[in-house]
Amino acid sequence: MPPIVWDLHPRKKGAESEVGTCQECQGQGRIECKECDGKGTVEKDCDECDGQGNLEKAKCQECDGEGSIESECEVCEGYGMKECEACSGTGKRTPFLN
Ligand SMILES: [Zn+2]
Ligand SMILES: [Zn+2]
Ligand SMILES: [Zn+2]
Repeated sequence: MPPIVWDLHPRKKGAESEVGTCQECQGQGRIECKECDGKGTVEKDCDECDGQGNLEKAKCQECDGEGSIESECEVCEGYGMKECEACSGTGKRTPFLN
């Protein structure tokens, strides 16, 4: 019976995979858009009424009196996710780059 050979370098293995995988996106290549918290839309003050919700004495039609409007997030174009800049969307990172 040959002796069982244990992996003597589990740490090294782990380190290697850490280097290969982009930590920013956990290897996904995409990260949640911080601008919109992954929702894909952002709420911003209505330009028409300056966030007041009404114009003079009438309800603002543009935002239906809400004072804010939901619009597509420009950063992620409404996807809620955007390409990871750290790895250019590849999900991998080498120690020689970045
Ligand atoms: Zn408005
Ligand atoms: Zn976004
Ligand atoms: Zn990444």
